[in-house]
Amino acid sequence: MAAIRIAVVGMGKIARDQHLPSIARNADFDLVASVSPRDPGVDGIANFTSLDALLAEGPAIDAIALCTPPQVRYELASMALARRVHVFLEKPPGATLAEVDALETQAAETGTTLFAGWHSRFAAGVAPAKAWLADKRIERVSIVWREDVRVWHPGQAWIWEPGGLGVFDPGINALSIATEILPQPFFLTSATLSTPANRAAPIAADLAFRTAAGAPVTMDLDWRQTGPQSWDIVVETDAGTLSLAKGGAVLTLPSGTVHNDDEEYPGLYTRFAALVRDGRSDVDTTPFTLVADAFLRGTRNSVEAFDD
Ligand code: NAP
Repeated sequence: MAAIRIAVVGMGKIARDQHLPSIARNADFDLVASVSPRDPGVDGIANFTSLDALLAEGPAIDAIALCTPPQVRYELASMALARRVHVFLEKPPGATLAEVDALETQAAETGTTLFAGWHSRFAAGVAPAKAWLADKRIERVSIVWREDVRVWHPGQAWIWEPGGLGVFDPGINALSIATEILPQPFFLTSATLSTPANRAAPIAADLAFRTAAGAPVTMDLDWRQTGPQSWDIVVETDAGTLSLAKGGAVLTLPSGTVHNDDEEYPGLYTRFAALVRDGRSDVDTTPFTLVADAFLRGTRNSVEAFDD
């Protein structure tokens, strides 16, 4: 079959670090255009300042990868789906749950693929962790996601604005893993969200969940971490302890540690190609629902102002 002609929309950090190399490596895709208001694009590829302009004047495309901040995703995704252009949404899939539902409906009505990608689910340890946990009794889960926002998100104003999620921007990756590997659903029981006095989104959060069977799941998110960074999930079970470190890349089971190569974004593009070929969508909003619940039910603290 012919390659899927794709445009990358939103030529920021993740587009350049991960999407462009993964598309280049995947024979199912042919990068034909890019869109970004200010970015000059890449040599030899048509670049447009808006998706409108690409759709009106650009080369024919079959798909877009939406790598913009979440607050502008809905309009862009809806515009593409209306033209029967397949859409790959970066995480989080939107700024609200209702708009993502509306996109899913629109994709179904237009016979177009909508893929809400969760890159951390493609980390090397996640699939084997899920397989190992499938028949275990979960006793306790601890999630610790502590990183230095100045290192990972320097100058990203959108991430501090409503809809930008603040510390839940990385935290939702942990939830995308936990909702994938745990054999039971879990839900929020309490949360404390700490928001800098000069910002709209939290810099830290402490959350408590429980599984349907009553096992506690705790989550510690903090963007003020300096020194060693933590992206760790530990699951205590009736058959011993599983740990996933480095954002899901390194899995340790009672029998030993498994290391594999990072295949997150190549894995996402393999999945997107299969969905397009099969005429299907994949829109799991579970991690986003848990974040929304934290904003819905959490206690708010105002903490020291934060400047980049
Ligand atoms: P970023 O560096 O700020 O890049 C966002 C890009 O979107 C900018 O280049 C901006 O273009 C562009 N943009 C904004 N509005 C647009 C519009 N209406 N049309 C087209 N382009 C538009 O952000 P990022 O770190 O790449 O993150 C983007 C998304 O990827 C977020 O949802 C984030 O959660 C997710 N993500 C990020 C990472 C990471 O490590 N950074 C990892 C995984 C997932 P101009 O600069 O031209 O204005």
